[in-house]
Amino acid sequence: MRVETELKLDFDDVLIRPKRSVAPSRASVDLQRSYRFRNASPAAGWNGTPIMAANLDTVGTMRMAQVLHGLHMLTCLHKYYPLEQLIDFFTTDPASPSAFYTLGIREEDFDKLQMFVKKAGDQARLICVDAANGYTKFFVDRVKQVRELCPGAILLAGNVATPEMVQELLIGGGADIVKVGIGPGSVCTTREMTGVGYPQLSALLECADAAHGNKGHICADGGCRRPGDVAKAFGAGADFVMLGGMIAGTDECEGEWVIADGQKRSMKFYGMSSVEAQEKHQGGVKDYTAAEGKCMEMPYKGPVAEVLRQIMGGLRSACAYVGADRLKDLSKCCTFVRCTRTHYPVPD
Ligand code: 5GP
Repeated sequence: MRVETELKLDFDDVLIRPKRSVAPSRASVDLQRSYRFRNASPAAGWNGTPIMAANLDTVGTMRMAQVLHGLHMLTCLHKYYPLEQLIDFFTTDPASPSAFYTLGIREEDFDKLQMFVKKAGDQARLICVDAANGYTKFFVDRVKQVRELCPGAILLAGNVATPEMVQELLIGGGADIVKVGIGPGSVCTTREMTGVGYPQLSALLECADAAHGNKGHICADGGCRRPGDVAKAFGAGADFVMLGGMIAGTDECEGEWVIADGQKRSMKFYGMSSVEAQEKHQGGVKDYTAAEGKCMEMPYKGPVAEVLRQIMGGLRSACAYVGADRLKDLSKCCTFVRCTRTHYPVPD
């Protein structure tokens, strides 16, 4: 047993220090990024605003993908769509180049992907291999298997939160982008249930460094609750930021809505390891496991485009405060200051 005493940080432990600069106007800040990936072969690239909808069954919907495609953003579809619907989507929908086909690590998930490839060829240009715990050899082997099946796909894999495992997934697993986040999710209870986790801002700083040194990329997954957190994630070196809770409750989500007077009021929002999700998709919680997710009522937020407009506005302004003309330069221009409080409540 060992204790690491160096302080590790979460989004709420820091602020971004403003810097004197030849201020770019907020309107001119470029949020588009252009990436080339290390393992997809033949070489593959992507251009757009690097924000992704998470593969939660309420958020990672085809409707979400259609709207986010129009905004040059990405969506990780949830893994519960039937095969035929996925084939139809990926072979006919104009939004499909902005959607990840997501699979879990069970045998049947891989069988389904094999069937998909047999019937639809290499139509899923983006593939996400998703596991709550990306630290197992089994997981790395699964990522490798997906890479062998789909050599040309841009492969996103996770979750992990430490640099050595980022490198293992990039080098050993053949992933292009590693998803970073153990425990920060809004409806995640892993930290409470297991005591396991890693403060998300430090995880991003450390994992970005490990990935970029190997021409790899990372996606920050979990813990963004406000637009400023998205700016901090990019500032810490994330190449992509994935959102669940921030875009849950928007029109593009699917789930159980509370409707009053003909108006949407709230939506049931739950983690994918919650009792609710396990009952819905796996026929209940297994005896030997405990749920590591929770369920809440998420207030209705209107169209997702409006929520994302706010986030983009916050990002442009963050860039202007530190003198970055482009989102690409935000991490280079970013100095974080540790603080004891990030914002103040309205006076009583
Ligand atoms: P959010 O943006 O809501 O803070 O975080 C979304 C992320 O939380 C998801 O992309 C996923 O990685 C994680 N997550 C979703 N459901 C669960 C769950 O039930 N348990 C855990 N440990 N993490 C979850």
